[in-house]
Amino acid sequence: MQLIHKCHKTVKKAGILLSLTAIFFQGCQVKPENSAKAESADSSPLNVIFMIGDGMATGQVTTMFYYKEEPSVFEQFKEIGFINTSSSSNKVTDSAAAGTAFATGQKSFNRGLGLSPDSLPVPTILTILQAKGYQTGLVSIGSITHATPASFYAKVTDRDMEESIAEQLLEADLDFFAGGGLDFFNKRKDGQDLYQSLVGQGYQMDSVGMSRVTDTSRKYGYLLAPNGLPAKHKGRDSFLKEATEQALAKLSASDSGFFLMVEGSYIDWAGHARDKEFMLAEMLDFEEALAVALKYVDTHENTLLIVTGDHETGGMSVGKGAQIDQVDLYFNTDQHTADLVPVFAIGRAADSFKGFYQNSDIFHKILKAAGIQNDKIELVK
Ligand code: MG
Ligand code: ZN
Repeated sequence: MQLIHKCHKTVKKAGILLSLTAIFFQGCQVKPENSAKAESADSSPLNVIFMIGDGMATGQVTTMFYYKEEPSVFEQFKEIGFINTSSSSNKVTDSAAAGTAFATGQKSFNRGLGLSPDSLPVPTILTILQAKGYQTGLVSIGSITHATPASFYAKVTDRDMEESIAEQLLEADLDFFAGGGLDFFNKRKDGQDLYQSLVGQGYQMDSVGMSRVTDTSRKYGYLLAPNGLPAKHKGRDSFLKEATEQALAKLSASDSGFFLMVEGSYIDWAGHARDKEFMLAEMLDFEEALAVALKYVDTHENTLLIVTGDHETGGMSVGKGAQIDQVDLYFNTDQHTADLVPVFAIGRAADSFKGFYQNSDIFHKILKAAGIQNDKIELVK
């Protein structure tokens, strides 16, 4: 294979002495020519960053095109699809069933986590990828035991069983997690201190702030609020961006591939509250974390970034404002809706996320992109 040297021209022009040139060459990256072709044939493990805006569909994303001075980072996506988010029990899904569809490749019933429609436990994408040596991480603004993150590791018939879900986190063998939910670990009805159990498992735990990952050989856990973290417009700091940065620092230190789920949890809450200020603050915050992920994909060829919502909340649209040439946010409901939800993909195998499909198909598309056969799990139509 012919190799090109990106720095060659610069060095030649500068006319630097040979010895200096040699030093400079050492610092340059040697890349195969035609890296696009090399990429598709690349057998290195796939890194997956899966970002979920809870309650985020087209209307919510549209706000970033009207309420920001700079261009929306969503403009960077060229591969875009749409999902139907209905669950096996309801046309309008909740976050538990929607998360379960993403995590297991099967649509299931509202309120259940990690279970099939007949309540049997189903393997999640985390356990399948862990068996292939992948590192795994979960980031959520809400409690780490809340429906969306829990759908990736817990098996319960009702999402409100958060103390039971916390116990199941101890079995999940995550390499990184960050969110709220401390009370479900150390202020439990059964008196157990699961925070200490996590320390005992070797986790570098933090309940105060988003401290930096300093030893990538360790597992990291952050439980930074009794339940969910504060809303952005009520004083949350740049947690989501920083947690995404630290998760990538930890997970990418190993070259065995990783799966990272990052949730913008309160876009949904803003929709339920029909609150414009809340919505814009959470969308801007989600975009900041998304910018971190986009930058990572830009510099790591074997990475796939998928951004979607689990369902729409609020029946929200960007409509005509009171004054001429102004826009405003309008909410049709304080509930979830059955609106189609956009899927944005970039990086390796991104083109497979174009078109119209079911929310559960995302699981199968990710495994296919990772080159993993998973014949046992059938698509539920
Ligand atoms: Mg959620
Ligand atoms: Zn909701």
